Amino acid sequence: MINKWSDNKAQECVARYAGRWGEALALRTYTARLLGAEPSLVLHGGGNTSVKGTVTNVLGEQVPAVFVKASGHDLATIAPEGHCALDLEYLRRLRALPELADEVMVNELRTHLFDFRAPSPSIEAPAHAFLAPQYIDHTHADAILALTNQADGEKRARAAFGDDVIVLDYVKPGFQLAKAAADALEAHPGSRAMVWMRHGLVTWGESARESYDATIDLVTRAEEYLSRGRGKACLAPTSAPTSLEAAQQRAAKVAPILRGMLAAASGDADRPHRRVILRPLISREALDFVDSDRGKALALTPPLTSDHLIRTKPLPLWVDAPPYDDPDRLREQLRLAIADYAADYDAYVERHAARLQPGVSRFDSLPRVVLMPGLGALCAGRDARAAGVARDITAQTLAAKARIAAMGEYRGLSEQDLFDMEYWSLQHAKLAAAEPPLGREVALVTGAAGAIGWGICRALLEQGCHVAATDISRENLDSLVEELRPAAPSRIIGVPLDVTDAGSVARGFDEVARTWGGVDLVVLGAGIALVSSLADMDAEAFRRLERVNVEGTLLVLAEAARHFQVQGTGGDMVLISTKNVFAPGAKFGAYSATKAAAHQLARIAALELADMGVRVNMVAPDAVFAGGTRKSGLWAEVGPDRMRARGLDEQGLEEYYRSRNLLRARVTAEHVGRAVVYFATRQTPTTGATIPVDGGLPDATPR
Ligand SMILES: [Zn+2]
Repeated sequence: MINKWSDNKAQECVARYAGRWGEALALRTYTARLLGAEPSLVLHGGGNTSVKGTVTNVLGEQVPAVFVKASGHDLATIAPEGHCALDLEYLRRLRALPELADEVMVNELRTHLFDFRAPSPSIEAPAHAFLAPQYIDHTHADAILALTNQADGEKRARAAFGDDVIVLDYVKPGFQLAKAAADALEAHPGSRAMVWMRHGLVTWGESARESYDATIDLVTRAEEYLSRGRGKACLAPTSAPTSLEAAQQRAAKVAPILRGMLAAASGDADRPHRRVILRPLISREALDFVDSDRGKALALTPPLTSDHLIRTKPLPLWVDAPPYDDPDRLREQLRLAIADYAADYDAYVERHAARLQPGVSRFDSLPRVVLMPGLGALCAGRDARAAGVARDITAQTLAAKARIAAMGEYRGLSEQDLFDMEYWSLQHAKLAAAEPPLGREVALVTGAAGAIGWGICRALLEQGCHVAATDISRENLDSLVEELRPAAPSRIIGVPLDVTDAGSVARGFDEVARTWGGVDLVVLGAGIALVSSLADMDAEAFRRLERVNVEGTLLVLAEAARHFQVQGTGGDMVLISTKNVFAPGAKFGAYSATKAAAHQLARIAALELADMGVRVNMVAPDAVFAGGTRKSGLWAEVGPDRMRARGLDEQGLEEYYRSRNLLRARVTAEHVGRAVVYFATRQTPTTGATIPVDGGLPDATPR
């Protein structure tokens, strides 16, 4: 591993932060970021750092303090305030206690912060306080995990590192580990680091650099030791290698079936499914692993470190030889495999139920990681971020287990240790964040790059939804995604899709299934307009509107219906209709007639799909001129004619439409988005209905 220390960069950090925070914390911040930038050291928050110094209290006294990384801060981007100051002398006195319950420990930490607004410090804070050196770096380095998760891991760790490194047997993280670590260092005062078996590495120093150098040096030694085992054939393929392309195609077909089966019952009649988001892991390494002779046996061993448990569960689900070419058999096999997994998981919880801490509720019995030969892995989480964490951990785990297989025998944590960590109240706190209303859902929006589409995507993202924005124009789609992505980095993608082409529609659904596992909400927003009297109507132009507005609606409704059938967890569709369906306008025959046909198709979908738990509703806006910076395509077509007819300019026309509705309301794309959210969140048991979003037009009231 490359040592990335730079005197210049360190000095930049000092120049920037030392004035306010002091030089020690400035340099702490610098090396914390160096560690954080290395995913193989600190995958998804697996690591924490500290520095000891002083805090000046209101009496002007210098009080000894330990600045510990706060929970929820990412080391890669940490700021000085990401390390929160705690009363060091008080915390050290706790070491005399024989035991300290987790909840009491958390209370002691929170009540001995110097700033009551500070975030909670890492649950490994006691170790940082009890260990004497000024700087402490703690990481869950891949190489350390690969070395210490072996049958003779302790011997190997000693061989790899030599005598000046302490090797500590596994102790559950928290107060007891902190005590054991401090005792070990006092017994071996000359040592420069400590390996925690099946957990990670701790290094220290009297300077930020000394501690950082030790981490890099020891991880490098571990990597060198492991590389001696490389080159040996460890995983023999059982079949011809699966191509990435074949695996991708299979994932698109399997993911919706699996996603439906992994949705737990919610107990809410209106929204009966607690869905998951699925992120596939499809890489050369992952495929070679699942297609190998020892893949199954290795995969079904405990995780590399207990930190990963709440994301992945103790074990993945392995599906033997999935029959990809026979969807019915595949579905049945998955159903049975999941039922077996759930029964095993229930039995495991039963075996340890006596140790379940009060107030800790049990997880559902469903797997988070599903490994399939010929496909790779499908990883589940409550949103794309959580599913992505499970996927990254799975990639790391498979790589480390393959490495170990080349060298010796994998030996992970005992079942009891696994249970204690999976059901550790402090770990559960990490998962307790409130879920947004549509956080577990995926929407596919057609015509998303238009003004109304923009308003719909924005409104759905605000509710936590994952949004696949589709449109025929790649360019407009790219600019939409670029605009909306900063607010929801892992929850919006752009998928080029032509609603008039059945193949393009099917490929669009497949791409969303490959990205997030499936689709729950389809918003049919694609549509085009034409201004022409009936007498002057160009038949070909009329047919063009039929193709987009009628056939395009039919193709998307049909594909969505098939998709919802496969997934088996119901769904929602919202058609963006128009006030013209109820109150058509002169010279607007092509638009009014084709939108009326689309509206009628959606009502029929409501009749046909209700049994499947699918609701189909309509939103009928009027006179939406723009959405954000996007001008409405419909008004670009209609506006000039209406302006001419009424002798108005653009602003005058907007004013005209505003003044003709009962509420004198200016109708915006955001309003249309909120109407979609109303249906998507299932506030009422409603299907086949229309919400007008028009400020009140008596002629256009649905009836
Ligand atoms: Zn740790």
